[in-house]
Amino acid sequence: MPAQSLAQVPDDAEWTWQELGSCRSVDPTIFFHPQNERGAARRQRAQAAKTVCAGCPVRLKCADYAIRAREPYGVWGGLTEEEREVIYAAIDDATGDPRAYPRERGAGLRLASQAINAAV
Ligand code: SF4
Repeated sequence: MPAQSLAQVPDDAEWTWQELGSCRSVDPTIFFHPQNERGAARRQRAQAAKTVCAGCPVRLKCADYAIRAREPYGVWGGLTEEEREVIYAAIDDATGDPRAYPRERGAGLRLASQAINAAV
């Protein structure tokens, strides 16, 4: 079984924004896909999560954290796993070194502003 990828939590991560997240008052299972979920079921669950994120007051902080941490799973800041994978690949192409991606607070927003804006 392959090793599961884990989030690479940045040194300057802070978590107070999570207390204000709109997801705190909804079913958390809409943000993470069950095993073998595919097709319409996956799209509908992701869209339900995106709708919650669209009205979230800390969406940009959440998206910034997820990109800097390379969160592998779930919907964060309105971005699905697949949308973040595209962002991670673009960052890797731009930096030329997948181990040296930007980690400082705000870097995720700067590097992926278009995708974040389009996500919800
Ligand atoms: S943007 Fe979405 S996942 Fe992030 S805190 Fe808000 S509701 Fe939760």
